Amino acid sequence: MLTLAVSKGRIYEEALPLLAAAGVRPTLDPDKSRKLIIPTDREDMQLLIVRATDVPTYVEYGAADLGIAGKDVLLEYGAEGLYEPLDLKIARCRMMTAARVGSSPARRRLRVATKYVRSAHDYFARRGIQADIIKLYGSMELAPLVGLADCIVDLVDTGNTLKANGLEPRELIMEVSSRLVVNKASMKMKHGAVCALIEQLSVAVGGEE
Ligand code: AMP
Repeated sequence: MLTLAVSKGRIYEEALPLLAAAGVRPTLDPDKSRKLIIPTDREDMQLLIVRATDVPTYVEYGAADLGIAGKDVLLEYGAEGLYEPLDLKIARCRMMTAARVGSSPARRRLRVATKYVRSAHDYFARRGIQADIIKLYGSMELAPLVGLADCIVDLVDTGNTLKANGLEPRELIMEVSSRLVVNKASMKMKHGAVCALIEQLSVAVGGEE
């Protein structure tokens, strides 16, 4: 049995056609079912529905053989304990800094609100900019509006969320897409099945370009 951890929403929706091309079709819709273990029409494969930020944990500890997670999540988690064999090129967006339209920092030492503490810290450190990183768990766009931070680091797709809150994108930190990750022991113990799936997904990703 191969188990693949994935989060509901954008990543799941965009992964479905790739999984289908690899012969994996869920037999339940996780949006309609409360089940967290989703069977597929491949008897040797099931899906685990988990929070996006929990995907690397399930895979690293071997509770799932494989997972699909955004590069943003993998960098925050510190995915040295996982293999990352394939860029699935789905759920693409950009990690960016953003600030109030036309604003310049009010302080000498920049205050940055984000849930991407590690990526933000690395980015400002690389650029030699002193920054205090403030960890938030959501609604980051609010922070500059109420003086909690000078800027935020967040994912940007259309830019509509920033715009709706009077913010503008500033600097690109990185392009983000979702990756296939594999448990290191599963790669050895289930080598044939894991490699076959990687190969099928890789063909499907190539075919989508
Ligand atoms: P948008 O308004 O289209 O720029 O989308 C921005 C909002 O959607 C932000 O709250 C982001 O955190 C979230 N978002 C955008 N793209 C992604 C993605 N690929 N994965 C997860 N969250 C995303």
